[in-house]
Amino acid sequence: MAYDSNNVFARILRGELPCKKVHETAHSLAFHDINPLAPTHVLVIPKGAYESLADFTAKATDAELADFTRAIGEVARMVGAEPGGYRILANSGTDANQEVPHLHVHVFAGRNLGPMLKRA
Ligand code: AMP
Repeated sequence: MAYDSNNVFARILRGELPCKKVHETAHSLAFHDINPLAPTHVLVIPKGAYESLADFTAKATDAELADFTRAIGEVARMVGAEPGGYRILANSGTDANQEVPHLHVHVFAGRNLGPMLKRA
């Protein structure tokens, strides 16, 4: 599927929409989720036009991959989620109910986050 360049995170990257920035690197941007599900809920996105983790790992350069992975760890440290604990999560596609079709990793922290998934 073609990348939708009008998705909300693409618009944030172009400066068309505001965000509460937490961290920025050459290839990644991190900002607070607009509808937080935990005391700390930050989204980390690559600056490139990638829809999912599969898309990103297939097409991104090693520099983008390294930058993004490192940015996630840096955010966990910056928001104080280390050493108490945190959860990272990336929804991809329909079964995961991905709402925004630009790769993003959620970083949740600040309370006990409960079980990983509800049992079906
Ligand atoms: P997902 O279901 O994994 O695609 O999650 C998309 C996330 O993006 C949700 O947690 C939304 O609250 C969040 N979100 C949507 N629009 C914005 C925005 N303008 N700024 C920050 N977070 C947003």
